[in-house]
Formats: sequence, C-alpha cells, structure tokens
Amino acid sequence: MKYNNLINGQWVKPSSELYIENKNPANREDLIGLFPSSTSDDVDKAVNAARQAFEKWRLVPAPRRGDILKLVGDKLLSRKDEIAFEMTREMGKVFAETKGDVQEGIDTAYYAASEGRRLFGHNAPSELPNKMNLSFRVPVGVGGFITPWNFPMAIPTWKLFPALVCGNTCVFKPAELTPKTAHTLVEIIDESMREVLGRDYIPGVINLVHGKGSVVGEAITGHSDIDLISFTGSTAVGKRINQVAGASLKRVSLELGGKNAQIVMDDANLELALDAVIWGAFGTTGQRCTATSRLILHEKIHDEFLNMLTERVQKLRLGYGNDKNVDVGPLVSEEQRNNVHKYVKIGIEEDRAELVTGGEFAEDGDLSKGWFYKPTIFKNVRPDMRIAQEEIFGPVLAVIKTSSLDEAISILNGTRYGLSSSVFTNNVNDAFRAIRDIKAGITYINGATIGAEAHMPFGGVKETGNGHREGGWTVYDFYTEWKAVYIDYSGKLQRAQIDNY
Ligand code: NAD
Repeated sequence: MKYNNLINGQWVKPSSELYIENKNPANREDLIGLFPSSTSDDVDKAVNAARQAFEKWRLVPAPRRGDILKLVGDKLLSRKDEIAFEMTREMGKVFAETKGDVQEGIDTAYYAASEGRRLFGHNAPSELPNKMNLSFRVPVGVGGFITPWNFPMAIPTWKLFPALVCGNTCVFKPAELTPKTAHTLVEIIDESMREVLGRDYIPGVINLVHGKGSVVGEAITGHSDIDLISFTGSTAVGKRINQVAGASLKRVSLELGGKNAQIVMDDANLELALDAVIWGAFGTTGQRCTATSRLILHEKIHDEFLNMLTERVQKLRLGYGNDKNVDVGPLVSEEQRNNVHKYVKIGIEEDRAELVTGGEFAEDGDLSKGWFYKPTIFKNVRPDMRIAQEEIFGPVLAVIKTSSLDEAISILNGTRYGLSSSVFTNNVNDAFRAIRDIKAGITYINGATIGAEAHMPFGGVKETGNGHREGGWTVYDFYTEWKAVYIDYSGKLQRAQIDNY
C-alpha cells in the first residue's frame, strides 16, 4: 500500500512520485508499505500551508486547542494495542515496549490538553503608580520537527503536542524507518482537529512530509520561513542542524546521543540492580538514547554480579517482538546491525577488553530473516576505550571495575555525553553525593537508566543537547515567546527610572 504526505489538509503524493519501502526488521519479507520520498518542493508547500494556517491557529483559544489534544489522547488510548502492534512490526522492539511508547504519547496528550487551560504568564508590580505590568506567552510561529525511529510515537508527541497547544503550526519529518507510526499519529491529529473545530477546521496546522534526512530534513532546517526546529537524533546530525538553522537564527532544540552508565556499589541490592541492567541495556535491543551501555561495578561485587548477569543475558529470548515470550527484538536495520558489529570488533581488538557473551549475529531458524544480534557483554573494559566512549546504539554492554564511589562517578562523567545515569546503593549519603556530582540530565537512584516520565524534564548536558528540555512544564518555554505588556492608566506620560527616582 502507498501512503502519502499531509499538506494543507490533503493527503498528497510527493512531487518526485518516488516512494521508499518500509519493511519489518524481524522479517524482511514482510513489506509494511511504501512511503513518500519527498523533495524540497514538498517542504516548500508544507511550510507555505503552515504559515497561512498560523495566522488563524494562533487565534484559536488555547483551551480549545487543548480540547483537540484531549481527543487525540482518547483516540490513541482506544487504538493503543493496534498502534503498538504495527510499531513493533515497523521497528522491532517488543510489544510491551511499543505499548509503553504509545502510552507516553497518551500521557503527553493529556498533559498538553490541560496545559491549554494554564499556559501561565507572570505579572509583577510596576515601579510607577497607576500602571500594570503583565507578561504572557505567545506562539513562536512555524516549527520544523525532525525525529528518530527508536520512539516513533513518544518523541513526535513530546514535540508536536506542546507546540500545537501553544498555537504553533507544524511541518513534521519522521524517520525514514518508522513512517507508518508517524502516518497514524498525524492522521489522528488531523481527524481530531476536524471533529473538534468542525466548519472552523484550519488546513495546514499539521503537515507531514516523509523522506530522507539529507533531502527533506535539510530543506526544513534551512527553510527561511521556519521559525523553530525541534530535533531528536544523533549528535553528528544535531551539530549539522545547529549550523544550518543558526544561519537564520532559528530557535533550535536538540536532543542527542548518550553513553549512559549504571553504577553498582558493594552495598546495593544485587537482584534489583540485575533486573535494572538487563532492562536498561537490552530493552529496545539497546537502541535507546538512555540505554545502559556502561556498567560500573564495585570490585567487591564485580565477579559475583558479572556471573549473575551473564547467566541471565544468555537466557534472553530473541525473536519477533509481537510474539509472546520474546524478550529482545531485532536491530532496526542492516546498517544498524553492521554498525553494532563494527564496534564489537573494535572492542575485541582493543587492549584487554574481553568478550564474555554474544558478539555475533543471531541467525538460527527464523532469526535469519531479520537483523538480530546476540546480547553482548564485554568485561575488563577501560573507561577510555572506544566501546566505553562512543554511542553504539545496540545490545552491547561494557563492564568497568571500580574501587570507590568517587572513582565510579568520575568514570560515569568521563564521556562527551550526559543524558541518563543510575546508581545502585543502600547508603543514603552515597546516593545524595551521586545526585550532586553526576553530570547528566537524568539520575536514577536504585532504578534503571531508562524510564523517564512524560511530565518530568527530559534531556541531557554536554554533547547530548543544547540546553533545552522536553517533557513536563519545561518544554512550554521552548514553544512560546514571552511578551511583556505595560498598561498605564495614570493619564499622563510616566517615564520609568526617571520620573520616580
Ligand atoms: P539520525 O540523527 O540519523 O536521524 C534522526 C532524524 O534526522 C531522522 O529523521 C533523519 O532522517 C534526520 N536527518 C538525517 N540527516 C539529516 C540532515 N542532514 N538534516 C536534517 N535531518 C536529518 O538518528 P537516528 O539513527 O534516527 O536515531 C538514533 C540517534 O538518536 C541516537 O544517537 C540516539 O541517541 C538519538 N536519540 C536521542 C534521544 C534524546 O532524547 N536525547 C532520543 C532518541 C534517540
């Protein structure tokens, strides 16, 4: 089946008339659909539609915009299993996780819906008599939204829902590998707009342009009539986007890579720490920006914990994520699997790192139809090795030994990234020191590195981003401009700083 772009309220073919195949990474014989390979012409049309729509959309009262998001949340909820099933088919992670991905979209929709009745501003007293000072939020304008494939529902919703409720209009380019989930999301948003607004429906508030990053992504980033860019993806592409968008002084939010670590101290609950690292390192087949890719073990429990871990990892069941009893799905693509294997070879060749388990393609029986890779552990890893420094984005865990909390924190902090982090300890003083000293956007105490909640700030420090946060209340600052208003009812010209001092 052929899918199309949504531009100005119409589902339209790409101007190239070319399409990209979308296949199931667990079974490459399973063709999901054909999705547009769009061009900069399609981007121009979408931006034009979004610009026209903005002048009407910004005037729709925010609580009414919130009503649309409420309906979007209801529709996602009623279709949760079906959307999750198709998402697993499209990108591979297991059904329980894709359901979680949809749930994050639902939570974000309801949060955004209620924010339509808040969007609080501030007021402050004036320094002059008979004068009132107010400040309130206004939308920024037309936004360009570029997203990755690992959270095909949650990440677009983190961006589009707050942007929309604030009164911005959108041009959305999803990842080439997960166009189907994006199609479903945009279809639901458009349907909800039509249902809530009825005859007042505004075409062009949300536009979907499928295609390649190098073509559609570049066209969005460089477009002179786009006011803001919200991007989630790799640090390399994020840097490029910052450069291109910076030339026209666009507001840019970047959520980028990670090299997250879990520390396990000698006083920790080891069973709990074990469950967490299995979930953190091998959930989503390690393809999360918050995945645990380094495990820092206190020397006193190192051998015991590594044995427990290896035994559990070797029992993980690989397969199609929509089959019950499967723990770990495939990698998302052939390219991704080759990249993971490249790093495993680097790990093997690097001085002293020792492969404990995994390290090869999983190709038994039906697994040969997909991009499966055996969950992999390296031990004796030094913190400066490439497998301990670079984002691998796959089921590969580097185990590093430490002798103290201070050393563990310094190892944890010793990469160019700073997204998520975790410490397992039962010592309350150590826990608070870790919270204070870890350089990361997110720290879990006695929890895995993954598990962010939709109403909390999400993002990282250093090369994980450029200082913005998604989620919760913080993202609303990105999607609005502050306007300061002074109302003078004295009936005369009052000069601030001059007439009163
Ligand atoms: P990617 O950077 O390759 O692609 C992300 C998006 O950017 C895709 O839609 C792609 O088409 C587009 N793109 C590619 N080149 C572009 C260009 N030159 N201009 C504009 N757009 C372009 O990343 P990916 O492989 O899809 O996702 C994996 C990466 O995303 C990992 O590095 C991961 O850590 C990161 N990620 C970060 C977060 C976070 O919130 N920090 C969350 C999820 C994923």
